[in-house]
Amino acid sequence: MTPLRSVRRGQMPSQAVGRRVVVPLAVVLVLAAAVRIPSLHLGARAEAQVLAAQGKWKWFRGNLHTHSLWSDGDDFLENIALWYREHGYHFLCFTDHNVLPRTERWIDLDLAKSGRKAYERLKRQFPEGLQERHNGERHEVRLRTFEEVRELVGRDDFLLLQGEEITDKFGKLPLHLNATNVQDLVPPMGGGSVVEVLQNNVDAVIAQRERSRQPILVHVNHPNFGWGITAEELMRIRGENFFEVYNGHPGVNNAGDRLHASTERQWDIILTRRIVELKLPLMYGLGTDDGHSYHRIPSRDSEPGRAWVMVLAAELTPEAIIAAMEAGRFYSSSGVTLSRVESSPEGLEIEIQPEPGVTYTTHFIGSRAGVSLDSEPVVDERGQVLPVTRRYSADVGAILASVDGPRAEYRFRGDELYVRARVDSSKLHPNPSKLGDLECAWVQPVLGPGAK
Ligand SMILES: [Zn+2]
Ligand SMILES: [Zn+2]
Repeated sequence: MTPLRSVRRGQMPSQAVGRRVVVPLAVVLVLAAAVRIPSLHLGARAEAQVLAAQGKWKWFRGNLHTHSLWSDGDDFLENIALWYREHGYHFLCFTDHNVLPRTERWIDLDLAKSGRKAYERLKRQFPEGLQERHNGERHEVRLRTFEEVRELVGRDDFLLLQGEEITDKFGKLPLHLNATNVQDLVPPMGGGSVVEVLQNNVDAVIAQRERSRQPILVHVNHPNFGWGITAEELMRIRGENFFEVYNGHPGVNNAGDRLHASTERQWDIILTRRIVELKLPLMYGLGTDDGHSYHRIPSRDSEPGRAWVMVLAAELTPEAIIAAMEAGRFYSSSGVTLSRVESSPEGLEIEIQPEPGVTYTTHFIGSRAGVSLDSEPVVDERGQVLPVTRRYSADVGAILASVDGPRAEYRFRGDELYVRARVDSSKLHPNPSKLGDLECAWVQPVLGPGAK
């Protein structure tokens, strides 16, 4: 990690514009924490925020989307947790479909997905206290609960979180949301439209958060899975400020197609319309695995290790991780590591931790004040309007600048509504969501001076 040497705070009243001053990182972070209220910072100018490891502030790598034998994954929770612990992760959230791993549950090894393989691995890795029973021909194993697995695999440097993939739908459209650090099961709430189903589920999570007084993070999963969610729907969901920009499952269409906007295109439409029209907070983009298959890595199944979040926090606790994410103190990655991200009233600066032989291009992406929000529907060959994300001007989410090399800086011109960044490496992802994907990092959007 590159230690912080100095920070630029050009528009602080006591400083000359652009002069470099030495300010301890902790001070900046405390200032930033004090002035940035996660869900209400719309309208405030970007304050100085420096994301870099220093002192007690550390980067924690985590995955927030994981399936197991508790639903349609093919391994035991403890095996999966160990895989993540051994592959450089600091936290992991289990998110099985509409179930929390805390009841007594037995699986039949011949009926469960990859049951025998998972069992052999379990016996090798966690032989102590395994509960098995034979019922005629049947051989059953009891699934360890979240608490048991946390006891077994969790450590001071590896945090396990209880989560749920709230798996709802509207008609045939799949509508999935993850609740991280959920305390009680949230049954799918249903509703009369895509927006209503999403909103009802978000509201249920927020109600539980208030009732339990525990931080619970809600995020919308894979909007292009089954072409379930358009940008115009997602942007309206109140209390929902996180979505999956890169989900590792090969079936989720992150890149969109001829008729459907990519998740990144959706992100820019959402950001622009939220700032200009809806007066809602920024939305942040997550990288997640959505792993289901753990026995023949790498393959074209949905597997662990494809995308993650890097969160800057002072502690590895659910409270600290969720607070950091709500304050935008994280980036998402499918392989690129950043050592420093600085946002200030002047602009955005990024430092990449380069890998030998790999080159990097950082694209700064944003919309400017006055951008046209006119849009056209997408129609099929017969001229029928399709229920998909509409088409907007290329000025919505335009590439404002592209910078080659391990360090990239963007200085505001003055009319930017927001700016975010994507760092593309020259390296092909070794086990991507979609063949041909490059390793990337997604820097979260910040409000620009044009967002008044
Ligand atoms: Zn899903
Ligand atoms: Zn999932």
